[in-house]
This record gives sequence, structure tokens and C-alpha cells, in this order.
Amino acid sequence: MPSYLPLPEALRAHKSATEATKKVQADFQSKLNFEDRQSFADASRGFIASISPMKIDHDRTSRPVFDLEALSFLDGEAPDTVNPSLWRQAQLNAQHHGLYEVVDGIYQIRSFDIANMTLIRGNTGWIVIDPLTSSETSRAGLKLANEQLGQRPVVAVIHTHSHADHFAGVLGVITQEQAASGEIPILAPMDFVNESLNENVLAGNVMGRRATYMYGNLLTPSPTGFVTTGLGAALSLGTTGFVIPNDIIKETGETRVIDGIEFEFQMTMGTEAPAEMVFYFPQFKALCMSEITTHHLHNVYTPRGAQVRDALAWADQINESIDLFGDRLEIEFASHHWPIWGRQAALNFLKKQRDLYKFIHDQSLRLANLGYNKEEIAEQITLPDSLGLEFYNRDYYGTLYANARAVYVKYLGFFDGNPATLHPLPPVAAAENYLRYMGGADAIVQKASSDFTQGHYRWVVEVLNHVVMAEPEHIEARSLLADSLEQLGYQSESGPWRNFYLCGALELREGLPEGSNYAAAPGMVAAIPLKNLYQIMAVRLNAQKAEGMVLHINLAFTDGEATLLSIENSVLHAFTGRQIDHPAATLSISELNFKLLMSGQKDGASLLASGELEIEGDAQALLQLSGLFDQFERRFPIVTPRKPWQ
Ligand SMILES: [Zn+2]
Repeated sequence: MPSYLPLPEALRAHKSATEATKKVQADFQSKLNFEDRQSFADASRGFIASISPMKIDHDRTSRPVFDLEALSFLDGEAPDTVNPSLWRQAQLNAQHHGLYEVVDGIYQIRSFDIANMTLIRGNTGWIVIDPLTSSETSRAGLKLANEQLGQRPVVAVIHTHSHADHFAGVLGVITQEQAASGEIPILAPMDFVNESLNENVLAGNVMGRRATYMYGNLLTPSPTGFVTTGLGAALSLGTTGFVIPNDIIKETGETRVIDGIEFEFQMTMGTEAPAEMVFYFPQFKALCMSEITTHHLHNVYTPRGAQVRDALAWADQINESIDLFGDRLEIEFASHHWPIWGRQAALNFLKKQRDLYKFIHDQSLRLANLGYNKEEIAEQITLPDSLGLEFYNRDYYGTLYANARAVYVKYLGFFDGNPATLHPLPPVAAAENYLRYMGGADAIVQKASSDFTQGHYRWVVEVLNHVVMAEPEHIEARSLLADSLEQLGYQSESGPWRNFYLCGALELREGLPEGSNYAAAPGMVAAIPLKNLYQIMAVRLNAQKAEGMVLHINLAFTDGEATLLSIENSVLHAFTGRQIDHPAATLSISELNFKLLMSGQKDGASLLASGELEIEGDAQALLQLSGLFDQFERRFPIVTPRKPWQ
């Protein structure tokens, strides 16, 4: 069994930057033009007001949902434990919070969360674009706008794309009833519902766990800990919800007039998100680029885990935005970071962001066609200075290294053609053999210490990972691996890379935090369409437990279409509109209660007792069904061995 024992207290402390790390920071200082303060001017422009202290409380617990006070150390010069370029981005994100005017009629709440919430002043109320990640933060942002600009009702909500930081705070600005009744238009791009739920729920537990590393939620804010996500100051951790949109945008060129404001839509599907759109406001000569363009290189592959994105489509969509709106726009703004004013500056930005993604796409494939594998491509690809030295094209969120590998995977998959990598041993088995061949853990640690002294952290990490996977209780190995990850974190220009490295060090030094099981948020469960719920259940089905079982249950919904739930061949299916003659049981229940029952938020016994559930046939069938599903542990090990599966 793996050991989750923490290291001795003395080994838990953060280390200072080594000489090798200081040299990396100095190289960044001399390479980039830190005298260029245009981004700071743009991030400050139009400031109206913020809240003080900049801390937003949770609706139900005592910990804050969002707290920028903890990042006040960013006031100073970059310490040598933070890459100076990332420090600059951290300052831009965290030190520019509050309500801003983009142009008379368009306002943004920035750094109340990881994303921006944009408010458009219509004839009678607010059109809210992207209501943040948590109800607490979106509500606080709307309150600030109402106080500063006059009280207005919310008359429409627009979700630009299927990522939670742009929709999950929706219940902070409207109610579920307002959405369901259709009294408030909720606009979203085609496939928004499926993609939101697939990205956030089907692979939800593993993505969520990896996201804790990527966004650094587990780290304490400090010069040796969390400084930024790159994409925004920090992720809020509050109450999430979901509403089903009632106005779906399907085609480029569609227009709407909402509360007197004209919108021209462009679909940007399959780029930054599977379902995404951007739009132009003729009245304001303003272009909302959603998350297609940002003030950094974005993720063609996001390290929290998601399907690889299409860098070529991404470049093409930016080009189409230039073609459609380039000769009309005066302002470009987006759902993260700060706007760009002036047509020339905005066009220059759009073109260089376009060329960034096209360069990565084209050159990665050129190198692949020369026969290089994804690691060799990533190691040698370099941006031309005309693209690479622009601050808005730098690695703060996505990295050139990871994105080049992603292009390879998009076209060619994870296998590089070398049969030596066709059928590798899994981590622990491989690690045990490496140790056997390399003379055991102590011998490896001794050699690794010498490489650490010389600053060869990438190699030390690679080799000590084997030692920890084979012998997680080897304190010296854990400690040196943690120290090496930490230096790599200090050196990283990318927020997610820093956070991954430092969270890895944390897990090695302190073990795993107290775990709980994954559960979708109640606000999400109620809104999940049944067909998505069945797919979620299918993903939780434990194949070994269901081995040899044939189980048919008729779901006779009291308020919906009858459905046959079947388990056979260790596979779960739901057949809508079908029932069979001799099921194990027939359940009479409402759709909502079924969702709550299956997500563990209500139990069968109390539903039976209240008469909200009736079972005809074998009452044990429901119990048998519930016993087949796995619970997913939230905090599974990442840098230490997972539970053995046999
Ligand atoms: Zn976002």
C-alpha cells in the first residue's frame, strides 16, 4: 500500500531560490521589455470603484470565496522565487479589480473571480455576459454596478462558452425560475448544454483534482506559493449553478436586438471551448472576443485535462473576426483580462494572436513531418521575436512547449511510432525495475543530489519520480523531489506550471489532504438533462461488480417519459420511451427526485417513506442498482502511487 505519511516537520519548509533559479529569473529580466507599461495603463483605464477589503464571503461556510487581500504582497518587486514575467502578469490580474467602464454603456467587473463579468446597459436593464464561477462573486459584482451606476434589473444573460468560469455563477444574477419561465432570455452557443456537462461532469472528478493543481487552490498565497493562475487573479470557490439557455445561437451572421442593444454573432466552435461564440456591438463599435483572444498564450491543451483543441481552427476564427469586424471596431474586450482601445492596436493584437496559434500549428506539423516526436518538437520550437516578445503572447497560461505537443497529439495521437513506447509498464512497475537496474533508491538519490546542485531539475524530477513511485516512504527522495519541483515552479513563466510544480511539492511534503467523495453541486444536478445523467451513471458503473448481471428497471416517471434502465454485459443503457414486461422492478418517481436519488442527495428510504417513490416488484432491485456504482475519491494521489488495483 502507498504511504501518505507526511515528511518530518523540518523537511516541509519552503526553500529559497537557488543560484540556478536566480540565473533563470535574470535572463527573463534582460530578455523582456519591462519598461513597456501599456498593459498597466489599459488595465487601469475606466476604473470606477471596487470593494474594500477585496474579499467575498461564502454563502454557507466561513472561508472566503475569493480573497485578493491575501495577494497584497504583489505590491513589491519580483522576488527571486517568482519568474519576473509571471510576477508582472500576477500584478496585472490582482491589482486591477472592481468595476470598469469599457465605453459608455459597456462595463466590466474584473478580478472578482478568475473571469470578467461584462454588463451592457440596455434600455431597461443589464445584459449580463458571463456571470463568473460562483453566485457569491457574480452577486457582489452586480451589486457594485447597481450601486455605482444606478439600480437596474437583469434583462438577459449571455454565456459566451461552455466553461464553468463563464456560467456557473448564473444564480447570483438571476433565479432558476426566471430562466425556466423564459421571462429572461438566456443566450448561448449551440451545443452549450452538452459540452458544459461533458467537460465538467463526465470527467468531472479527475478534471477537478487536476484543476486543484493547475489553479493552485491548495497553495497558500505567498512569494514561495500561489501568486496567480495567469488567466486571472485566482479561481473563486463558491456556490455553483446552471440554467438551460432558451435562445441558442447557431450560425455566424445571426443577429439579435436585446433591450435595444444590437448583437452580431460569430460562431467560434471547437477552438478555445467546444461551444463558443464572439460578437460585435455596432452601436459601440466594440468586439467581444469571449475567450478566443486573451493577454497570454492560451491552452491548445489544458493541463487540468480536456480534449485537445484545434490550433488551426483557432487561428482561422480570429482571422474571420478580423474580416467580419476589423474595419468597424474601435474597442476589443474579452471575458478575461483588460480591453484594447483603438482600431490599430486592437487589430495588431488580433493578428498577432492569430499568428501565434497558426505558427504553433504549422511549425509543429513541419517538425512532425521531419520525423521528430512530440518531446523533440516541443524542445526545439521557438517563436519569432515579433510574436514571442509581445507580453500578450507569452506563456502565462498555456505554454509553447505543451501546445506544440498538443498539435502533435491532435493529428497523430499519444503514440510516436516507436514500438518501445507501444506497451510501456505502468508507473510503479516501471519504477521498481528502474531502481533495480540503477542500484537502488539510495544510489539514485546520491547522484540526483549532485545534479540538483548543478541545477538539472528537469532530470532530477524525472529520475526521482521513479524512486518515489517505487518507494514512497523514502524520505530523502521525497524531499529532494519536492525541492526540485519547487525550483521548477519558481522558474516557471506559466501560472499553471508554477502551480502544478508547487502542488506536487506540497503533496510530497505534507501528504494528501483529508478526502471526500466527488459529488456534482446541487445547483448543477437539478439542471442536468436526464440523458446526461444516465451517461454519468454509466461512467460510475463498476464493471467487476456488474459482471454477469442482467438487471432491467422500468422508470415510470410521474412527470416525464417512461424509460427502461438496463444493465447487461457490465454496460448501463437507458432507453427512453421503452418499458419491458417483466422488469426486476418498476419505480414511480419524479424526474427531479430520480436525479437527486442517483446523485446521492436523497436516499431511497426517505423517498419511500414520504411517498415520493413507489416500487413495484423486487424492492431489492434499487438497492442492488445503487451498489453497482463507484464513489470517486476527490483527492487521489498524483505524485505518489495510486491505490493498487489488484
Ligand atoms: Zn474562462
